[in-house]
Amino acid sequence: MTHILVTNDDGVFSPGLIALKRALEPMGRVSVIAPDRNRSAIARGITIHTPLHVEQVELDDGSVAYSTDGTPVDCVRFAMLGLLDGVPDVVVSGINMGLNMGDDVTYSGTVAAALEGVLLGWPAIAVSQQHIGDPDDQWDGRHYEFDAVCRFVPRLVPLITEHPFPRHVLLNVNAPARPAHDPPRARVTRLGRRIYNDALVLEGTDGLRRRYTIYGERPGYHAEEGTDFAALEVGEISVSPLHFELTDEQGLDALSGLLADHGLGHAGEHQ
Ligand code: MN
Repeated sequence: MTHILVTNDDGVFSPGLIALKRALEPMGRVSVIAPDRNRSAIARGITIHTPLHVEQVELDDGSVAYSTDGTPVDCVRFAMLGLLDGVPDVVVSGINMGLNMGDDVTYSGTVAAALEGVLLGWPAIAVSQQHIGDPDDQWDGRHYEFDAVCRFVPRLVPLITEHPFPRHVLLNVNAPARPAHDPPRARVTRLGRRIYNDALVLEGTDGLRRRYTIYGERPGYHAEEGTDFAALEVGEISVSPLHFELTDEQGLDALSGLLADHGLGHAGEHQ
């Protein structure tokens, strides 16, 4: 029986997490280890300077979950290191309340947890849901409709657990607020590019300390065919295969040439 680890970055009591857990239960055994509070935008942060606390808590469906004061990545580490009875076969992170597309993925705790899964050699999926209605209420579960993505993700899981699929690749799933098709249709995409509309806003002063907000305006994006943003535009679920290979091939060549030309290295040394 498939053992699925469910985690998130919105906190163990997030409506998105319980929706995902319920959707995956017909697939096998579902274990939940999640942060005890909202740790969104913490990316791949880990807790190294203090011990971590773990508590068993009861979810809305009466089941028991592990709540920790660690980060999403810490939660996946806990599973690997034996907190659960048995090591999971697959990591599913979410359902995040809010999209994680384009450049967002580098800040996202939801995607970070899935990345930890593939780094540990497990198939992994990150799932995020677009909000409906007032963006100022983005943490309020009533403004998210999880039905379509909850029908899609359980069908996606066996595709990467039961079929040959590169183990270092995670699937980043983003679902539109109002899918254009029923059943929902998905599109394989690459990451698009965000346009962040952030501004330095001085909120007040307190002696020598100044208080700013620097993130605020809703971000836009570059409209480009084939991207995650383009899929959402037409009401389809976006699925982007992502990996953690950060080394740039062009950069290797360009840097080797520069170092060699200036007597600081050897051309082609990286090869
Ligand atoms: Mn989140």
